[in-house]
Amino acid sequence: MSASVRPKPYLEPQYCKGCLRCIEACPRDCITPGSAINPATGLVPVELHLENCNGCTLCLQACPEPYGLRLETDRAGLEGEFVLEDPAKLFGEKCVPNHSEGDLPDDRRALPDCEPLVLKGTYATAIGALLAGCRHVFGYPITPSTEGAELMARILPKLNGHFVHAVSEVAAVNMMYGAGGAGLPCMTFTSSPGFSLMLEGVSYMIGAEVPGVFVNMMRGGPGLGNIAPEQTDIKLACRGLGHGNTHAIVLTPSTPQEMLDLAIDAFALAFRYRNPVILLGDGYLGQMTGKVRLPASMIRPGLPAWAVWGDRAHRHNLISSIALAEADLEDHNEHLNRKYAAITACEQRVDCYRCRDAEVLVVACNTPARMAKGAVETARENGVKAGLFRPITLWPFPIDALAEIMPGVRRIVVVEAGPGQLEDELRLALSHANIAPPPIDHVRRCGGNLPAQDEILATLLAREEVLS
Ligand code: SF4
Ligand code: SF4
Repeated sequence: MSASVRPKPYLEPQYCKGCLRCIEACPRDCITPGSAINPATGLVPVELHLENCNGCTLCLQACPEPYGLRLETDRAGLEGEFVLEDPAKLFGEKCVPNHSEGDLPDDRRALPDCEPLVLKGTYATAIGALLAGCRHVFGYPITPSTEGAELMARILPKLNGHFVHAVSEVAAVNMMYGAGGAGLPCMTFTSSPGFSLMLEGVSYMIGAEVPGVFVNMMRGGPGLGNIAPEQTDIKLACRGLGHGNTHAIVLTPSTPQEMLDLAIDAFALAFRYRNPVILLGDGYLGQMTGKVRLPASMIRPGLPAWAVWGDRAHRHNLISSIALAEADLEDHNEHLNRKYAAITACEQRVDCYRCRDAEVLVVACNTPARMAKGAVETARENGVKAGLFRPITLWPFPIDALAEIMPGVRRIVVVEAGPGQLEDELRLALSHANIAPPPIDHVRRCGGNLPAQDEILATLLAREEVLS
């Protein structure tokens, strides 16, 4: 058969995933990247320009899709309307999901008893992530979170894992999109300016329902600010995760032990809800050393049924945040809203210290909660019925527990290393719950300064009748 009569390829756009491998394979430059999104798939199929095509079939050989490129001779009735033949007849059984198998479950393995370790917060987080089964970490170094990433870079190659020092935070978050989309537990360590850069990708991950854990050790801002501790990303984490209808669980540890425990929980929550989770620490916590007890078991992760994984069972899967039809996007947002409502109902967490009979309630999280606890103790010694309400989830805010305490509370004091973002979350939660707030005072420091126990105590005792 001469080259001129060899059949040429044609494209079934709904099966083309736009990988562009055929373009590289074609010796005659007959294929170009597409310019239009296919509304059925949300992908951009290539375009064929076959004037110079010699029918060599190299593009067919390069195409990983069984039905993407085919030869004209396979087409039934070239002149008439094309009807796709039964793929099973052409290529054998089509790869379909095996729903009976569903998720491959996690495997828990017992850990031997050991003495507590003495760890700084970033290391505790890294070890928690490893025990949760995380073997894929992507990041760009930024103080004060870098040590966690450094530890991962040293350990992961020994565990058949991967640490990628990305070219930027934007690259790192998109690597997480890919790894999380493949169903792999993945994470990044970052700090405030780096977190800002990641937010577009976080929105994509939320839209596409991709799990991933973001450890943000907050530092002073705005702008480059400094590398000292602040709590000035509360607004970003709770209200500003990129564009669109976005929310993620925001966990706020206050000790190195919680850095480890909440890192493990963060992976479970990310996969339970198919959503990113933010572990929001502050720069002081990252550097703080403390006694850390390891859990009784570690996790060998399974594989969710939805993962874009390279085997037959998962071949049908597609991860995308695009829905061009208005009705489809509205449906998707309603689905996300149902998920956010389920999270709000089920995942509120708080530590209440001496709150049962509290009349003056201190609200604080992260490192400032430690000073606040000391101030509450001293206030109690001075006859003031003080209590500490420490949210462990900032989103969802633990309003249900707060609502139970509020009837006895005369006054609230919000303690934070920041300009008032925690107080904003508190006021918003009270407002949504239709709870009229009592007078709210605050102790705020910023620029890397933390509220001191004496300052908090002075504010607690002000306006109170103190027993001498
Ligand atoms: S058959 Fe050969 S020449 Fe024609 S488009 Fe494919 S690779 Fe290019
Ligand atoms: S190789 Fe196949 S799937 Fe990839 S762009 Fe070309 S036709 Fe599409």
